Amino acid sequence: MSVHPAAAAEAPPHLATVAGVPVDTRHWIGGRRVASADTFADHSPIDGAELARIARGTAAEADAAVAAATAAFPGWAATSPAERARLLHAIADGVEARLEELAAVETADNGALLRSHRRGVMPRVAHNFRFFADRLLALGHPALDTRGHTNRVSWDPAGPSVLITPWNAPLMLATWKVAPALAAGNTVVLKPAEWSPLTASLLADIAAAAGLPDGVLGVVQGLGAEVGAPLTAHPGVRRISFTGSVPTARRIAEAAGRNLTPVSLELGGKSPLLVFADADLDLAADLAVEQYDNAGQVCLAATRLLVESSVAEEFTARLAARAAALRQGDPRAETTDVGPIIHPRQLERIDGFVRRALAAGARAVFGGGPNEELGGLHYRPTLLTDVRQDSEIVQEEVFGPVLTLQTFDTEEEAVALANGTRFGLAATVATGDRARADRVADRLVAGTVWVNCFFVRDLRAPFGGSRESGIGREGGDWSFDFYGDLRNTVTAPRGWVDHG
Ligand code: NAD
Repeated sequence: MSVHPAAAAEAPPHLATVAGVPVDTRHWIGGRRVASADTFADHSPIDGAELARIARGTAAEADAAVAAATAAFPGWAATSPAERARLLHAIADGVEARLEELAAVETADNGALLRSHRRGVMPRVAHNFRFFADRLLALGHPALDTRGHTNRVSWDPAGPSVLITPWNAPLMLATWKVAPALAAGNTVVLKPAEWSPLTASLLADIAAAAGLPDGVLGVVQGLGAEVGAPLTAHPGVRRISFTGSVPTARRIAEAAGRNLTPVSLELGGKSPLLVFADADLDLAADLAVEQYDNAGQVCLAATRLLVESSVAEEFTARLAARAAALRQGDPRAETTDVGPIIHPRQLERIDGFVRRALAAGARAVFGGGPNEELGGLHYRPTLLTDVRQDSEIVQEEVFGPVLTLQTFDTEEEAVALANGTRFGLAATVATGDRARADRVADRLVAGTVWVNCFFVRDLRAPFGGSRESGIGREGGDWSFDFYGDLRNTVTAPRGWVDHG
């Protein structure tokens, strides 16, 4: 059979082909695809090409999605844990079966490295479903005895949950929420970021193919203010889990506050990497150069290098050598280490921070601007020194490949600098002294502290931030605590009628 060339032009307007993969650009509500009157353009950071026109949701679609999730909730909540776990494993199977497609679409959409998506991120997406499926079946609370009375702890699924996620690791961060919420028996409405909306749509296909009942997972596309805001203000929503920026979090927390809807907030950071003179300096420099991964668009990135004065020069030289070896370019190439920035607006924002820092007296040890040779959205890995603790570049999250370097002379000073921002997401400590590692870790304001390592993440452990880096913890049983309504049943030893 021959395909007439016009056939491609006649492809339905809601189907985009991205990296060879058909992606439905409409919402997924109540087990069917739903269009919006309007659409918005989704561009690739690789070459600026328009990838798709995506349904631009409004309050009407937000309401429809919550209504579908509400209708599906009683049935899903009553499904046995074993059956829920089976379906989550089936979704994981679907993710694994389409791993190459998911990786290619994600790279086209957000510009992060294809090799990371293929080998790291997408396998972890599948793992997110498997982990929470298995965890669900292992959950248990020991019965407590209070003077002969038993305390039996149980929980109910909380209800329809709205999950709102950012663009820097779209499917990874979405499924950290989708998997535990579904495992806990909640129905969910996922609103992915408008700069990287595509893999969420594929997840809807995968979940449907796995047999997830209609309405249990909805995906609503659109802009934050237009469809995210009505979702988070909806009085029928019982949980809101958000990963994104602090200003958006404030709006969401306000909206949630009006309905007293519990919120989980995973926000930004300005995490430190403390390098003590007794550290393995090669290891410390390896940890520092890792901060340019994903072009620095990582919430956990240790963007503030705090280095003991006596080793600062040597450390800087070793970091500069590593940074010089980083290969920037097309994120689809196996040899690329640093891909493009997600969006022209983000590049402009990053460059604004750097230009203002330079104008305020900072010095660029390397980098300091866009990569003119490569053009496009490539920003040069940058290290700024001569920066003041109270300066914008040290205090504000840049969310790009920009690190600052400050020095310290004492442990006391190192801890004070490390804790001296509004954030408290993570911290990394490089030291050869175990006692110092524990001492310093215990004084850091951070949801995660890594010692002589970075980015090691076990789903059994809690994850989240202190101060303006967030509210609540996700992972392990902490996720179930959030998505469930706990009940304690206290039963007396007396009052029983003996039917025997
Ligand atoms: P963002 O806050 O601009 O957007 C995040 C999401 O919120 C998007 O889906 C957006 O559409 C939606 N949104 C925007 N306005 C809304 C509103 N009024 N109501 C409801 N939803 C709304 O964040 P971003 O730029 O997409 O992501 C980058 C930020 O995310 C950085 O600050 C980064 O540190 C943070 N982040 C945190 C973590 C973490 O786990 N702590 C992980 C990744 C990213």
